[in-house]
Amino acid sequence: MDPEYDLIVVGGGPAGSTAAAAVAMRGHRVLLLERETFPRYQIGESLLPATVHGLCGILGVAEEVAEAGFTLKRGGTLRWGRDPKPWQFSFSMTPRLPEPTATAFQVERSRFDEILLRNAARVGAEVREGSTVRRTVADDERVRGVEYTDGDGNARTTYGRYVIDASGNTSRVHSGVGGTRVYSDFFRNLAVFGYFAGGRRLPEPNRGNIFCAAFDAGWLWYIPLRDDLTSVGAVISPEHTAAVQRDPRSAWQDMIRACPEIAELLDGVPAATEPPYDQVRVRKDWSYWKTSLWTPGMALVGDAACFVDPVLSSGVHLATYGALLAARAVNSALDGSVPEERGFAEFEARYRREYGVFYEFLIAFYDMERNDESYFWSAKKVTKVDSTEVAAFAELAGGLVSGDSAVLGPDRLGDHWSAAAAELEGAVGRLATTDDRVNPLLSTRVVGETFRTGNDLQEQALYGGPLDDTGPTGPGHLVASADGLGWDTA
Ligand code: FAD
Repeated sequence: MDPEYDLIVVGGGPAGSTAAAAVAMRGHRVLLLERETFPRYQIGESLLPATVHGLCGILGVAEEVAEAGFTLKRGGTLRWGRDPKPWQFSFSMTPRLPEPTATAFQVERSRFDEILLRNAARVGAEVREGSTVRRTVADDERVRGVEYTDGDGNARTTYGRYVIDASGNTSRVHSGVGGTRVYSDFFRNLAVFGYFAGGRRLPEPNRGNIFCAAFDAGWLWYIPLRDDLTSVGAVISPEHTAAVQRDPRSAWQDMIRACPEIAELLDGVPAATEPPYDQVRVRKDWSYWKTSLWTPGMALVGDAACFVDPVLSSGVHLATYGALLAARAVNSALDGSVPEERGFAEFEARYRREYGVFYEFLIAFYDMERNDESYFWSAKKVTKVDSTEVAAFAELAGGLVSGDSAVLGPDRLGDHWSAAAAELEGAVGRLATTDDRVNPLLSTRVVGETFRTGNDLQEQALYGGPLDDTGPTGPGHLVASADGLGWDTA
């Protein structure tokens, strides 16, 4: 069982490519096993600046991404909350960072993910596509490797000092770390999505924004991918499952018709016919987290670890950030600078915190939409978060989530979320009357917290370290090394 590799990564999506590249860049032996042959289709097309300028900068791939011709995204436009008119937020409200980095991209994931995967190979990872991992191999002490089927159908076993599972939401490889997957009842939704061969654009400077519009049955996203391609999806309650499964295309079209703001942008525009955009797809986008994110020899990152509702476009950020944190723990354990236990504890604490702030933000955000007649929206109130879920969340986030919730037990989290929702709603109400440069959204605790790690990542890429890394684990916590790829003691 001599380890042939320092790290074996399962899955070559954004999380897997990030972990593989970040460990290979330190000169370690990395094997990445990916089931498909790239390019492959994936949903999750709207990115955040933290990924584009932070993570991609650290991995040395920001320039290639910038030159790929993706649609520039300056922020979001929302028909959401009390105001019947759409409102905007711009990434340029983010303080401390130079203006050109206050943007992101809307990406065709097949192309974006392939850039990241080829980058992992370029910096030294051995990438084997068409290779499906069946299970992890472990003894009493730790995970030692994986069993997989290679591209020729042969069963193989390979050993590594560490395994990172980044195989997304459909694989079972995550069971190698133990623990359970906890599903959120509050964010139990269904997504039905497809593509149009064009579509009207919002006026400049918001042309490349994601447009999210709440309507009676849920909400719709509208993502301009190219002049001749728009991604449109509906997020609705699972009660629609039977109708959606019977005829996904009609259900999708019905949802679009029911939302006038989006229907207008698509009036007269045909559905896309080019593969892979010619299909209407359905995903249960249940949100979940694992109670354990690592065990000796193995860590979970990306959708294999956790997922939270897509409205804030946090999926790729959480996936790549979690992967970077795990890579730091692996790199620091391999070079002996930080004991394994400590490095992975820091990975888990920071990852849980980041998941927690997005979860909090989303609860507050859903609470803002007022539509008491609607089944979907009346079920999405802070007061409707089930007490079991509140208790599970308190355990997940225990002492790590933003601000005073650190000292709140499950019984007071509901009040805490209501206060965040009221503060957010007040800030959105002031948006139209305030100078863009002093964005009231950012002064709310919940928005400030949600963008904090993203800012840190961008500062890491720009300046070789966050200007102010407060970390979640308190005094003596670890900080990122100057290259962003390992841990240093503070
Ligand atoms: P994936 O991208 O799923 O990659 C996992 C890889 O592992 C795949 O390539 C797969 O082929 C491979 N694999 C699986 N099993 C095995 C195995 N056994 N062996 C080897 N390889 C394997 N996120 C955003 O940032 N912005 C958005 O706008 C957005 N919108 C979304 C809308 C919806 C409806 C949903 C459901 C999600 C959305 N997301 C969005 C989330 C986003 O899709 C995911 O969070 C992101 O793709 C996670 O990346 P990953 O690398 O963890 O997993």
